[in-house]
Amino acid sequence: MGNYYEMLMEDVRFRDGLNACINCGVCTAICPAAEFYDYDPRKIVNLVQTNNNEELEKLMKSETIWYCGQCMSCKTRCPRGNVPAFVVMALRSLSMKLGFFTESEKGRQQFAIKRTVGENIFKYGYCVASYAVSPEMHPEQGPIWKYIIQNAPDVYERLGGGHFDELGAGPLRKIPEDAKEELIRIFEVSGGTELFDDIEKHSREKAEHMGLQFDDKGIDNEYFIEVFTANKKDHHA
Ligand code: SF4
Ligand code: SF4
Repeated sequence: MGNYYEMLMEDVRFRDGLNACINCGVCTAICPAAEFYDYDPRKIVNLVQTNNNEELEKLMKSETIWYCGQCMSCKTRCPRGNVPAFVVMALRSLSMKLGFFTESEKGRQQFAIKRTVGENIFKYGYCVASYAVSPEMHPEQGPIWKYIIQNAPDVYERLGGGHFDELGAGPLRKIPEDAKEELIRIFEVSGGTELFDDIEKHSREKAEHMGLQFDDKGIDNEYFIEVFTANKKDHHA
């Protein structure tokens, strides 16, 4: 076990986000996630500043750190200039680096996010590319979604999409290859690629532990389906 507080202090978001918490609870009062989930930013910030290694490990293995919606409402209200959302970001990154994220249902979903919206950035230049939102994987899109996907050029032209999946101007334009290569380079130098590798490595280990089939690529494997669909339904307060 390392010293987690010291590891967190290496993260600029943590240093920026934690001054001294006076436990006033203003962040929790404004927090929309606290309204719906078993989640309390005041408790997180208070726990973190106690520098209790065991409790920090428990927190990084829990569902709790994944409930924050990163709306930044807490940033605007804290009387001590803390940013609980930044503290949560740092906890999430360390949890993924050390593999603790695979101990919780919401944490394990980081693998599904990496394999979908994460890899979309490299493939398409967009994290959410409408043509990558398959009707089979996203029944919540409703029955018309399949029609839209099958008739995308026509539908988006009528909606004013402009240059759908073609080079040129417009919100749904094709991203040039050199721009995508630049995005990949940004991920490499900023630590994003390393984080993706950590997610893959720890998810593979977890899949083995759970006895589920795991592939190096794609979403057609048992572990992906498990983490994508699992919902134990007791997350709400
Ligand atoms: S608003 Fe700031 S000082 Fe108050 S509990 Fe939240 S983090 Fe601590
Ligand atoms: S950023 Fe997270 S902790 Fe802060 S108010 Fe929004 S949901 Fe709550």
